[in-house]
Amino acid sequence: MKSVVDSGIEDLSKMSFEVSEEQKLILDEVDRACKELRPFEDRAYLSSSFNDHLVPIFSKAQLLGLPVSRRYGNGQGADILTYALALERIGREGTGVRTFLSGHVSLGQLTVQKWGSEQQKERFLPPATRGEKVMCFGLTEPTAGSDPAGLRTSFEDHGGFYYVNGSKAWISNGSIADVAVVFAYPKGKQEGMCAFVVEKEFEGYSSQQQKHKLGMPTSDTGSLFFDNCKVPKENLLGPIGKGLSVAYSGLMSGRLSVAAGCLGVIEDCIDEAVAYARQRVQHGKPIGKHQLVQRHIGLMATNLEAARNLTYKAALLKQRSDEEPRNVELRDQADIMIAKSKLFASNASFDAADRTVQIFGSSGYSFETRAPRHLVDTRVCRIYEGTDEIMVQKIAVGLLGPGFEAYK
Ligand SMILES: Cc1cc2nc3c(=O)[nH]c(=O)nc-3n(C[C@H](O)[C@H](O)[C@H](O)COP(=O)(O)OP(=O)(O)OC[C@H]3O[C@@H](n4cnc5c(N)ncnc54)[C@H](O)[C@@H]3O)c2cc1C
Repeated sequence: MKSVVDSGIEDLSKMSFEVSEEQKLILDEVDRACKELRPFEDRAYLSSSFNDHLVPIFSKAQLLGLPVSRRYGNGQGADILTYALALERIGREGTGVRTFLSGHVSLGQLTVQKWGSEQQKERFLPPATRGEKVMCFGLTEPTAGSDPAGLRTSFEDHGGFYYVNGSKAWISNGSIADVAVVFAYPKGKQEGMCAFVVEKEFEGYSSQQQKHKLGMPTSDTGSLFFDNCKVPKENLLGPIGKGLSVAYSGLMSGRLSVAAGCLGVIEDCIDEAVAYARQRVQHGKPIGKHQLVQRHIGLMATNLEAARNLTYKAALLKQRSDEEPRNVELRDQADIMIAKSKLFASNASFDAADRTVQIFGSSGYSFETRAPRHLVDTRVCRIYEGTDEIMVQKIAVGLLGPGFEAYK
């Protein structure tokens, strides 16, 4: 009999994480672009501003539409594992850098690619893949976070347009986005959610930057406001009433991008910790010779392997699920593996940043070193795209079965 904790995927053990020649070429280019970006990111971080070099550098390296079909602009048609490996490398540059891609590509472009009509894809994807237009994904509201079904933004169908009213909060790329995927209920209802593509120029649309954040000073976070915002009918995304399905599919891609980015954070912390522990001398020897310091490094390295295995498995399952969109069982397995990878990797990255700060001692208390940046930046990974608590419940209910949901 199959155990309840069996993954259900018969040949999971045969999944290969080997990097092909083609993947290697892409990853070399990602590495090159990251190296070019780093000095600008350093400067932007210390002055708490958005890094204006990010879009041009990543656009030149053709990274802004990496997993998007080659049919659209600079889409590269990379598979999900390759995209995850790229985000892993990008994560080393900081959670703020990776968050830009999560909002612009994973949540923005991939949602349009999955749910959009051919006309919508041809219109919105090419400029986004080229970095001419920035995308964001507006689901969260001041009163609806973990429970997106409780959102209050509404739309009314009137004279060939949808009139959208309400607001969104804590949206990555929110104040710099040209194109936003947003969610709303028909006016006066709390069911039949719809998704829309809202463009910056639309009458009644505005945005504002969120200030005074704990971390990610180089990542733009914003609120979106809709005041009788006039959205043309052709900007409805996906079928009428299927907004929640559109949102959940976007969140799957987004969560996976968070997990992948966190791998890079752990790697950067390990590199920093090892280099420092080799050269910093206390009590007559490098601190790397003190066993309690070695413990930090050993635990970080172990967590990294565990997080990688979960995340790569999740990426391969997501790839398969994308190839078989009607297979609900496969989608649910991918969903749960993604939740596990996000939960584990985001906690492991926060832990790694904390341990690295500890190894650096007082030098780790200055934002001129990398570890404290990771510490404050990666904290958000345990909150956005579904909190730790929501991920744990999803995983547990997957085992307990229907009827055990902690909430509806
Ligand atoms: C920097 C940043 C960027 C973001 N980017 C985006 C974005 O691009 N797009 C977007 O739509 N949103 C974005 N978010 C919003 C984010 O997804 C939400 O903040 C998150 O889903 C949590 O919602 P909340 O903050 O309203 O917390 P709440 O839902 O109010 O939760 C508060 C606490 O209660 C717990 N809780 C809630 N419900 C339950 C339950 N049923 N059982 C147990 N515990 C529960 C939570 O786990 C949490 O600990 C971003 C947030 C941040 C901070």
